Parts: sequence; C-alpha cells; structure tokens
Amino acid sequence: MKGIQVQGTGSAAVVELPRPEVKEGYALIKVMAASICGTDVSTYRGTNVNVSSYPIVIGHETAGIVEEVDENNQYGIKKGDRVVLDPYLYCGNCYPCSQGKTNCCETLQCLGVHCDGSMCEYFSHPVHMLRKVPKDMPWERIPLAEPLVISMHGLHTCQLKAGEHIVIIGAGAIGLLAGMGALAYDAVPIIADVVEERLELARSFGIPYTVNPAKENAVERVREITKGRGAECCMEASGSDAGVRSTIDYAAYTGRIALTGWPKHEITLPTNLITKKELQIRGSRNGAGEFEEAIELIHSGRVPAEKIISKVVPYTELPHMLSELSEHPGDYLKVVGLFHTEG
Ligand SMILES: [Zn+2]
Ligand SMILES: [Zn+2]
Repeated sequence: MKGIQVQGTGSAAVVELPRPEVKEGYALIKVMAASICGTDVSTYRGTNVNVSSYPIVIGHETAGIVEEVDENNQYGIKKGDRVVLDPYLYCGNCYPCSQGKTNCCETLQCLGVHCDGSMCEYFSHPVHMLRKVPKDMPWERIPLAEPLVISMHGLHTCQLKAGEHIVIIGAGAIGLLAGMGALAYDAVPIIADVVEERLELARSFGIPYTVNPAKENAVERVREITKGRGAECCMEASGSDAGVRSTIDYAAYTGRIALTGWPKHEITLPTNLITKKELQIRGSRNGAGEFEEAIELIHSGRVPAEKIISKVVPYTELPHMLSELSEHPGDYLKVVGLFHTEG
C-alpha cells in the first residue's frame, strides 16, 4: 500500500509501505480521506519539535471505512462503518488520564508526530478510538472533525455562553472553525488577525466582527464592539507573542482565556493585570470526548466546516501540496487528499 512519508526537512514522497497488521483491540481502516494539518507542514519544514525521528508517515486528520474488526468488540464498531480517527493515543493510567483529561496524557502519542501517522491507504487503529460518522457525510468533510474538536475544546475551556463575545486570535483553520463554533453557540465571535485576506474570508463565513491589530487599535475596537466591557472570552489560536499578550487586553474584567496556539518559546505576561482583572487563563490542548459534538456540528451544517477546504486532491498530490503549503501558507486553509473512491 502507499503512504505519505516525510523523509527529512523539505522532502516528502508517496512511498510503498507494508499493509499494517491488526493487533488485538485494533481495527483495519480503509482510508478514504485525510487532510493536511499545520502540524504536518511543520514536520515537513523540520520545525516540529515533537517529531523525534525521520522518516515518518504523517497525518492525523483521517476518515475511512472499517475493513476488519473483531465483531464482538464492546464499542459497537462493525465492518463497513464509516469512521473518523481520534488520533490522540493515551495511556489511561497517568494522573491526567485518571481525571478524564486524556488529551493531556503524560505520554500522549499523536499520529504522525510521535509515531507513524494515518496518511496512507490502510491504517490500523484502536477500536475505542474510532468515532462513527453518518452515511451521508461527504468524505472530504469528515477529517475536519479533528481540527473542529480542537476549536470546540477551546470554546469549552473558556466556557463560552450564548450572547457572550469571544475574541479569537489567529484566522487559521482552528481560529476560523472556532468562530463558526461560537456562532453555533449563539455567541458573538470577533476574529483578530494581521492578514487582511483571512479577515475577509472570516466575514464571508458570517463572522460579524474582525479586527486587524496591524492596522487599527484592536483593543479600542474590541472595547467599542463590547460596549466598553471587553470580551468575556478570548481564545488564542496563533501562538504568537503578540497574540498571547493581547488576550490580557481584549479580555473583560473576570474574563476567561483559552490558550490553544503553541508558542515556540516562553512569553512574558503582565501578571499584575491578570490579578487586577482576575482573569482566568487556561491551557487548551487537543480535545477529549468532543468528537461526537464536532461530527454532529458538521453533519447538521451548524458548522459549515467545508468552507475552509481550499483544495481536494488525489493522495498522490499530497507531497506537492505540502511544499505548496510550506511556501505559500497564505494561499490555502485546508487541503484534503482522497485515498480511495467508494464502490
Ligand atoms: Zn490537526
Ligand atoms: Zn495517560
């Protein structure tokens, strides 16, 4: 079978791989669609600090059909089921796992980062990490449930409620999906980014407010939109120094802040303001138990995730698309590769 392998910095190819063995507790998935994540691009660029060795098969946003499974499994997964992979493999024994925070497992393994990923024709995955999807969902939309999980986890982390404002910093896939999720929650998203084209895109998705800190006094603008209060919630999805720092200013007194973006280094924050405003700042990583909601949001159309798909290509073009995404990140949001056609 074929798979997409990154062999070193700036080098990716379609390679021949052995068809995976199906261990006990695992199912064999015939992969139908897989999308490229920013993580995959950073692996290709050689800037993903979590990748310890090359070559590595990339990919963790993956949907397919169950081809082989123990029919007596306790999760009700059957041969022929359409599924999306929950790609965060956890130990189940450590402290965060014992608290149900499997997304923060001390020995978390993400597909395509800590171990070979699922951007290949067939993939073997634990049965309990398969999430069923309805039959009438187009294949290219299903992998988007994974980034949407991360976005929704950010909204859950800041406990966003209907009617509240949320400043979402970073209009990439995660930020835009979070904006759509906030609309589904009847909240008021304000998306901040320095790239004007991305803000235009956000507005075309129905995001009511956008701010560009490179062009305007974004803090003043947020205060105006929120009638002087500041935003009840902030979700940081850029990982940039300025983005993280700005949450403190956008947030209302007693505001709730979720930090989803991964900064490349330590960032200094004015802790006096955190105390003065009694801000609640929480990390927000991956997601746990949130796939069902994400699938339902996409399926019902309440989150029109397909709007962030820039291109759907046959999987053989994925290595080329990785270099495109690496060189022209502004030109694309999600690129989805198709591995099989139905029938
Ligand atoms: Zn991803
Ligand atoms: Zn664990």
